Amino acid sequence: MKNWAKSFEFHPQNVYAPTSSEEIQSLVKDHIQKKKSIRMRGSAHSWTGLIATNESFLHLDQMQGLIEAYPEKNMVKAYAGTKLYRFGEEAFTHGMTLPNQGDVNHQSLAGALSTGTHGTGLTLQSMANQLYGMKLVTGSGDILEINQDTHADLMNALAVSVGSAGLLTEATVKMRKAYGLKVETFAEDIKEALSKYQERLMANRHLEMFYFPVGKWSMVKLMNETTDKLSPQGKITKAMDLVLENWLYESLNILASKTQSYKNIDSFMRKFVGYKTFSNWSHRAFPTDRKVRFMEMEYNLPIEKFSEVFEEMQKSIEVNHFQTLFPIEIRFVRGDELWLSPAYQRDSVYFAIHTYIDENYRPYFDQMEKIFKRHGGRPHWGKWHTLTHDDLAERYPRWDDFKKIRQGLDPHGIWLNDHLRSLFIK
Ligand SMILES: Cc1cc2nc3c(=O)[nH]c(=O)nc-3n(C[C@H](O)[C@H](O)[C@H](O)COP(=O)(O)OP(=O)(O)OC[C@H]3O[C@@H](n4cnc5c(N)ncnc54)[C@H](O)[C@@H]3O)c2cc1C
Repeated sequence: MKNWAKSFEFHPQNVYAPTSSEEIQSLVKDHIQKKKSIRMRGSAHSWTGLIATNESFLHLDQMQGLIEAYPEKNMVKAYAGTKLYRFGEEAFTHGMTLPNQGDVNHQSLAGALSTGTHGTGLTLQSMANQLYGMKLVTGSGDILEINQDTHADLMNALAVSVGSAGLLTEATVKMRKAYGLKVETFAEDIKEALSKYQERLMANRHLEMFYFPVGKWSMVKLMNETTDKLSPQGKITKAMDLVLENWLYESLNILASKTQSYKNIDSFMRKFVGYKTFSNWSHRAFPTDRKVRFMEMEYNLPIEKFSEVFEEMQKSIEVNHFQTLFPIEIRFVRGDELWLSPAYQRDSVYFAIHTYIDENYRPYFDQMEKIFKRHGGRPHWGKWHTLTHDDLAERYPRWDDFKKIRQGLDPHGIWLNDHLRSLFIK
């Protein structure tokens, strides 16, 4: 088995596709007796070894969809393994949607919540903040049903916990009324984009910047709520985008890594990025098609560090002659109270570093990670990083409290693998 990026492979002894929480409960009890562990996947979209195991493996592909809608409370209850694209469409039939999303929707709801998956927007928090209630099968084989009213602290501890304390089978999610979203993208010199970013951050619901380091230009993406008549991309435009942003982009990446002519190819690529706009229902407007495989590392930093850190990154790229056609993605997220959320108690900027999958990412990622670490960066749980227990303990004020809760819910380590032990066990 492989993850989405095909950057790691593993061979579980058993694979389970349960159909109920009770079935999972008896699996856990059986594994306690056999002293064996289980790991679960959502859609395997993470780069870190969160899901890898040579013991037992489980997915919720047989437990999909909405269970109940509560339009009067603006909430829905869904099977936690539901893929986000299905979750979005089914919630929409009840006139509801998520306030914010990331840039693809192939993840599972549980996977996205558990890793602190986020979109962009200074007034908006990561997806896990939408979690009102959960049904969790613990490592002791108990079924725990909690929500923010009955167990606020426990919810804050478990909302982002990478499946290390239990398996989430059902999630009750806070939604909002469905809304239209207007998306605009255009290319700009990085100096201009930087001189305007603060104003844009305040004036737009969502601001995202993609910095292309070879040519020092940026693609700016603005998204705003709209009540105008929606004008989605037509089929032909979508097909063209698919070709340009995926197949052509992939060919250029292969060519660049083979010929090392990054500069010429980057300036050729820039010519294709003109002004583009469309609007659609938000759950259809947020996701993009990502067919080209890449490596990614993403760190969260306090928002006030934005300029200082970005300058250091640019300098390091220049000095070290790092070259890739993949951009650095810059997003903004409001702080929260979830104990293991990278945005815990700080409004944040996220820097995501990418390389084409066949490029040697390590020298580039290592240098960038040094900068992020120096400035108190916290890694995205699902994206490549090298932090282990002590680094994380330093970065999360409620670390020890979380560990106590995790140990209490999973005393036998049923839900742990080597990667998780390197994070949570000292
Ligand atoms: C192309 C692409 C685009 C992406 N875009 C974004 C983005 O815009 N913003 C962002 O923040 N991230 C983004 N990511 C990262 C991604 O959202 C996270 O890695 C997310 O965890 C993947 O969800 P998944 O369902 O694939 O989970 P997996 O990778 O399968 O699992 C992630 C974690 O969740 C746990 N888990 C899965 N199911 C359960 C369950 N039922 N109960 C408890 N734990 C569970 C797993 O064990 C694992 O620890 C992107 C990734 C890719 C590949």
